[in-house]
Amino acid sequence: NQGIGSWPARRGRRTPRRTALLHEGRSFDYAALHERSTRLAHALRGAGVGRGDRVAFLGPNHPAHLETLFASGILGAVFVPLNNRLTVAELAFQLADSGSRVLVHARQPDGKAAELASAAGPLTLLSVEGEGPGQGYEELLAASSTEEIDEEVGHDDACLIMYTSGTTGRAKGAVLTHGNIVWNSLNVVVDTDVAGDEVALVSAPLFHTGSLNMSCLPTLLKGGTVLLESAFEAERALRLIELHGVTALFGVPTMYDAMASAPGWKEADLTSLRLLLCGGAPVPTRTARTFLERGLAFVQGYGMTEASPGALVLDRGDSARKAGSAGVPHFFTDVRVIRPDGTETAPGEKGEVVVAGPNVTPGYWNLPEATAAAFRDGGRFRSGDVATVDAEGYVTLVDRLKDMIISGGENIYPAEVEDALLRHPDVAEAAVIGVPDARWGEVGRAVVVLRPGTAPTAEELLGHLEGLLARYKLPRSFVLVPELPRNATGKLLKGPIRDRYGSTPA
Ligand code: AMP
Ligand code: MG
Repeated sequence: NQGIGSWPARRGRRTPRRTALLHEGRSFDYAALHERSTRLAHALRGAGVGRGDRVAFLGPNHPAHLETLFASGILGAVFVPLNNRLTVAELAFQLADSGSRVLVHARQPDGKAAELASAAGPLTLLSVEGEGPGQGYEELLAASSTEEIDEEVGHDDACLIMYTSGTTGRAKGAVLTHGNIVWNSLNVVVDTDVAGDEVALVSAPLFHTGSLNMSCLPTLLKGGTVLLESAFEAERALRLIELHGVTALFGVPTMYDAMASAPGWKEADLTSLRLLLCGGAPVPTRTARTFLERGLAFVQGYGMTEASPGALVLDRGDSARKAGSAGVPHFFTDVRVIRPDGTETAPGEKGEVVVAGPNVTPGYWNLPEATAAAFRDGGRFRSGDVATVDAEGYVTLVDRLKDMIISGGENIYPAEVEDALLRHPDVAEAAVIGVPDARWGEVGRAVVVLRPGTAPTAEELLGHLEGLLARYKLPRSFVLVPELPRNATGKLLKGPIRDRYGSTPA
C-alpha cells in the first residue's frame, strides 16, 4: 500500500509511542491510531466495502473522521468527507452522487442520519456515539480484527472525493488520488518546515481541504501531534496554545481576527507558536499587523480543492516585503498566469492562474464535460482567478473570473443561491453579490425583482432559503429593485449590479 492508508502502519512502526491525536481528553498514540484504523477497515469490509467503494463521514471534527479516512485508504476505498453545515437536501445529493455505501456519522441531531439514508439510500449507517439499534462504533472496533490488511493501493488510485460548488450551482466531487494527497503533504513539509515535534491545533473543519491537507495530514506524516478540536472558539484556542505548547495553527483570516479580538489575547502566552498558516482568502493587512506586533508572521497559502489544495505559498520572511502577494508556487507544483491564448503574461499583466503538478486532481466524479472544461492544454487546471506576476515570480491575485463570494472561509457560489431564490413563487429575478463585512470578509446580498402584486418580507424569503441552503450561504440583506441589467442574450450583468448595489456594507 503506497497510499495514505499505510501512514498509520508506517508511523506505528517508527514512532509507536508518540501522540498522534488529542481530542476532548482522549489521547491516541501512533500505535493506537494504527490499531483503530485497521480494526475499522475490517469492520467496513464486513459491511461490504471493497476497493473503489465510497465511504462518507458527517460530523464536526472527531478522531473517527481521520480513522475513517485511513481505514478507507487501507481498503482502497474512497473517502467522502461531508460538510456538516449543509442541509439534509444538500447532503443527500452528495451521498447519492458519490454513491456512498456507508455513512459514518458523529453528533448529528436525532433522526438526521436516518433521514439521509432514506433520501440517498441504500446506505449503511454507523454512529460514532453508538446509540440506537445495531452496533456502535467503539463496539464494532472492539469486535474487529487487528490483522494487517495488505491491499495494493497506488498513487493513481482515488483517495478522496471532495465536493466543491461551482458557477453552475451544482456541487461537483473533485476526485483526489493518493498521489495528490502525498505530494501536497510533501509540498507543505518542504515549504513550511513541518517538524516531528509539531503540535498542531486543528480546529478548522476537516471536511475542508485546507484543514485536512495543509495542517492535519502533514503533521501526521511527520509524526507530530494533532490537537483536534470539534469546533473553533477563539478564547479556547488561546488557552489551548498555552496549555499544550501548540506550535502550529491553520486557519482562515476570520479565525485569526477572532483570536486577536478575544478578551484573553493580550495575556495569552503565544511563545510556543512557530507556524501560523493562513489560507483560503487574502490576509487583511490589519490582521497581519496585529500578529506581527506579537512577533508572529503568517505563512500564507493560496489554493483550491482541486489542487489538494496548495498552489502558492508566501513564506513568513516575505510577508512584509511582499505584502499583498499570494507568493510563489509550492515546490513540486507549477503555477502560471496566462493569457486567453495560453501564453504566459508579461510582469504586471493580468491573466488567469492555471495550476499543474502531482497534487492536481485528475477530474470531477462522473462529470467528463465539467472535467474537460476545467483543464487547459497540457492538463493545467483553470482556477478562475485573475492575477499578475512580478519580475521575481511572485503572484498577486487581483480578481475572479468566476462569480464567487468568500465568507469566513466558506465559498458561496451565487448561482446556487439565485437558483434557490427563483424557486420562491414571488421572485421574478434574482442576483446575489458579495458585500464587504468586517467579521466575515464578505457576505451575500440578494438583489431581487418581485412579481407584480406580491410583497413577501425579507423574513419570508429567508425562511424559504433556509430549507434549501446551508446557513452560511444565506444572504445577509435583500434589496428590492424594479429590474436587473442584462446583456443582449439575457445574462445578468454582475459588474453593474455590484457597482450599483454592492458598495454599502451589509
Ligand atoms: P475552493 O473551491 O473552496 O477550494 O476555493 C478555491 C478558491 O478560493 C480559489 O480559486 C480562490 O478564488 C479562493 N482562494 C483560496 N485561497 C485564497 C487566497 N489566499 N487569497 C485569495 N483567494 C483565495
Ligand atoms: Mg472550487
